[in-house]
Amino acid sequence: HQLEKKYKTKEKMFSKNNEYIKAVDNVTFHIKEGETFGLVGESGSGKSTIGKSILRLQDISNGEIKYHGKNVFELDKKEMRHLRTKMQFVFQDPFSSLNPRLRIGDALAEPLLDHGLATKKNVKEKVMETMELCGLPTYHINKYPHEFSGGQRQRIGIARAMIMNPEFIVADEPVSALDVSIQAQIINLFQELQEKRNLSYLFISHDLSVVEHLCSRIGVLYLGTMMELASRDQLYENPQHPYTKALLSAVPIPDPTKRRERILLKGDLPNPASPPSGCKFHTRCPFAMDICKNETPVFKEREPGHFVACHLVDQEKANT
Ligand code: SF4
Ligand code: MG
Repeated sequence: HQLEKKYKTKEKMFSKNNEYIKAVDNVTFHIKEGETFGLVGESGSGKSTIGKSILRLQDISNGEIKYHGKNVFELDKKEMRHLRTKMQFVFQDPFSSLNPRLRIGDALAEPLLDHGLATKKNVKEKVMETMELCGLPTYHINKYPHEFSGGQRQRIGIARAMIMNPEFIVADEPVSALDVSIQAQIINLFQELQEKRNLSYLFISHDLSVVEHLCSRIGVLYLGTMMELASRDQLYENPQHPYTKALLSAVPIPDPTKRRERILLKGDLPNPASPPSGCKFHTRCPFAMDICKNETPVFKEREPGHFVACHLVDQEKANT
């Protein structure tokens, strides 16, 4: 049984190349079973577009997204229905996805009943189990969404996803709206659930300090292009791309001996609909050279598992 599962869920491959809306361009990555892949970038970088298209909440014009080796855009209705249970979404603002007139017990029961995964008889038991799993005391079962705090509402959002017994969760800025103290609790909950259920996550954030503790690998997006992709240790200890370095230099580090040199970006984020030529980052990069305006740097593997797209890194490598 174990072997079969291992074979079946060995690797999930997502790749997309979206020319039409230009929200995302040449982004390829895969997420392994039981891992958390972090996707980081400013707003307008295309993070949410990627997250939504994986769950087919948004279409892409070309490129492919594979789950267990199958292109999700080629699944038939039945397969898609199954996929909709196995892949779940957790949003930044769970309140907006909760019906204000539905008690949370009913809100949690709804997707289960819709998919025929529970009966009227056993649904309450499943709801209570999931509430407990997500740190929501079951005496809250008859309360309405507005009666909960921000952190509790995010627990409800997570419970809505968990009740479907998913394999994979896309979490889009799930802690960005929360106080820092609550953020840590919710991140811990994500971690606990992953250990208990062998979940895989795509964790989307604009904040590198949020993903550091949770993610085993991280991709840095800028204007819909992957600039750097590496394991957590590679990225935090040896960032290569100027954009990653700038993002990291803004993360506060308590130990003064480990502080990074502050790299300030020039100007504002360009319009994602008409990104700059060459390296899309060149209008803001403190190290930009002539070549950067005209030639798009190739996304290359510099050491095993560490990919960077930057002319400066190319030149440094050529000189060593
Ligand atoms: Fe900066 Fe040029 Fe590298 Fe782009 S390619 S990040 S502009 S040095
Ligand atoms: Mg977003």
